[in-house]
Amino acid sequence: MSISTPWVFISGGSRGIGKGIVKMLAAQNYHVVFTYKSSINEAQILCQEIKQQGYRCEGYQCDVSNAKEVTTLSAELISRYGAPYAIINNAGITQDALLINMKEEEWHNVISTNLSSVYLVNHAFLPEMITAGEGCIIHMSSVTAFKANSGQVNYAATKAAMIGITRSLAVEVGRFNVRVNTVAPGLIDTEMLDHIPASHRKKLLSNIPLGRLGSVEDIALTINFLLSPGGRYITGQTFVIDGGMTA
Ligand code: NDP
Repeated sequence: MSISTPWVFISGGSRGIGKGIVKMLAAQNYHVVFTYKSSINEAQILCQEIKQQGYRCEGYQCDVSNAKEVTTLSAELISRYGAPYAIINNAGITQDALLINMKEEEWHNVISTNLSSVYLVNHAFLPEMITAGEGCIIHMSSVTAFKANSGQVNYAATKAAMIGITRSLAVEVGRFNVRVNTVAPGLIDTEMLDHIPASHRKKLLSNIPLGRLGSVEDIALTINFLLSPGGRYITGQTFVIDGGMTA
């Protein structure tokens, strides 16, 4: 059974940028479905808050690097709601170390969470989007794809790969009116930055022409635009949102 309101799937919506996207898209009247890995409390509070405002929101515990979990959840959602209008592949982690010290486990954890999840989620929903004849896929990359960050070869590999995936997939599915784009944030004020010491933060800020860290709303606004009619002729592109850091 389908629903009349378009629904969107957001991976990693319980905290940070994903949470900002959940809030913004729900307020635009999309029916928002998001996943999280372990933050059950945060997810429940977020859903409650959004529902109290009169919007539609559901949160599911689903490790998007786990093929079985993605297959089960996507099948359930498709049978209930049909094709999603949009997929936002946002879930991501860092496990930083210089390459010479990086454990195999740290390499694989980041690759599977940030990159294999993109294959799994897109693969699960794309056939339905193709049949529906419209759709929008967003990949959450990072400026780390363009600008070196010591200790992040695993993370950089995943974020650069998304840009290649975006181009290839945009060409594969354009004729079905499914658009594929990437957003590459700079430094956004979320828990992911908590490990950066205050002194280093100050130095990083001095390299941002707009003079401030990005907010989750800065990213959510661009995604909202890409999903809106304003984005209807845009595909295969990467949008750097970094306050000018890479200018
Ligand atoms: P946070 O750590 O604040 O939030 C990460 C979100 O992803 C959480 O909801 C988390 O769920 C979820 N998540 C992590 N692993 C999994 C998994 N295996 N399955 C399902 N959900 C998972 O990160 P940010 O909001 O800062 O980052 C979001 C995205 O933006 C990432 O892809 C990141 O690489 C990218 N980015 C962030 C930047 C920044 O400055 N913050 C800059 C550039 C890119 P749970 O709460 O359960 O752990």
